[in-house]
Amino acid sequence: MDEINKDYKENYAVDVLTGVRPTGNLTIANYLGAIKPLTELQAQGLKTVIFVADMHGLTDNEPKIVKSNIKEIIADYLGLGIDPKKIFIYVQSDISTELLELTMLLLRHITVAELLRIPTLKDKLKQNQTPENANTLLAIYPVLMAADILIQRSKFIPVGEDQKSHIEVTKLLARRFNSKYGNTLPVPEMQLIKPLKILGLKGLGKMSKSDPDNAIFLTDSPEIVAKKIKGAETANPGEMTPILESHFLLARELCKSDEEFEKNKQFEIDHLLGKKVMGEFKGFLEMLVVNFLSEFQDKRSEVLKQENLIEEIIQQGKNFASKNAKDTLEQIRFSLNK
Ligand code: AMP
Repeated sequence: MDEINKDYKENYAVDVLTGVRPTGNLTIANYLGAIKPLTELQAQGLKTVIFVADMHGLTDNEPKIVKSNIKEIIADYLGLGIDPKKIFIYVQSDISTELLELTMLLLRHITVAELLRIPTLKDKLKQNQTPENANTLLAIYPVLMAADILIQRSKFIPVGEDQKSHIEVTKLLARRFNSKYGNTLPVPEMQLIKPLKILGLKGLGKMSKSDPDNAIFLTDSPEIVAKKIKGAETANPGEMTPILESHFLLARELCKSDEEFEKNKQFEIDHLLGKKVMGEFKGFLEMLVVNFLSEFQDKRSEVLKQENLIEEIIQQGKNFASKNAKDTLEQIRFSLNK
C-alpha cells in the first residue's frame, strides 16, 4: 500500500466536528439540545472543533446578513461555556477554496436522483420549498456537509436521529471515493446524541425561534421571562401531559445543585399526588431560567469587551482548519494522480 495511504483508517485529524449556522436569536432549547452537549465533550477532553457554517447559511440568507452574524454566534457560544482554549472554532468560508474543491470532487460520486432521495433533503423539499422554488444550494447541501466532515478528517459527528442520513451520505461518498482512487479518506462515525426535545411554552410543538411568544430567547430580560412563564400551559393536579413533562425537563436541565434537582423532583411528585403546586413550580422554573440567562448575558458581554478576542479565536481556528484541509487535499490529489 502507498506510504501516504497506509494508515488512512486512523488518519483522523479531529475527534468531533460540529457546525452551527450563523442565524441569530438562539433559544434556550438551542442551548440545551446543541450547545450543552458540546460543553460536556469539552469536559471529557475530546478534540472537538466547531465551525460556523456561513456557506450553508447562504442557502436561505443574504450574504451580508450571514457575515454580520458570525461574531454574534461565536460570542453566544463563548457566553454559553465553550472554552476557546479547549475547542477550535473556525469559519467555514475561511477554508472555502479547499472545501469547494472537495465538494466538486464528491459531487461526481452521487447521482442527481440519489441526491434528491436523501431523506432530510426530501423533507425540506416537502415543507415550504419545492424543487421549483428551492435554490440549488439546498440540493447540494448534503454534499457540502460531507465535504465539511471529510476535509477535517473527523472521527465522530454528533447528530440527532433526524440527521442520520447526512452521515450515511458522508460515509457513502468517502467509501465510493476510496474504492475508486484507493484508500484516502477516513470514514467518520456517527455519534448519536441523546434525544432532547423542549416544547414551546404553550405546547404548540417544538420550542422554536419561529414561534417567539412560545420560546425563551437567550436575550430575554427577567421581565419577559416572568411574563412568558406565567403564561405557560401546565396541567390539572394529578395529570401529566407532554407539555408539563417538557417544563420539568427544562427545569431539570437547568438545575445546578442537588437541592435544585430534588426540589424539581418533589414538585413533580406533589403534582402527581394531586397537590396544587403549579404556581410555585412556575416560580422555581422562572428562577432557574433567569439565573441561567443572566449568567450567560454577563459572560457574553465580558467576551465582547475583550478587544480582538473573537478575531483571534477565528484566526487560530483558521490556522488549524486550513492545515487539516490542505493536508487532506494533498492526500486526495496524490490518490487522484496515481
Ligand atoms: P435550529 O435553530 O432549529 O436550526 O436548531 C439548531 C439545533 O438546536 C438543533 O439541531 C437542536 O440540536 C437544537 N434545538 C433546537 N430546538 C430545539 C428544541 N425545541 N428542543 C431541543 N433541541 C433543540
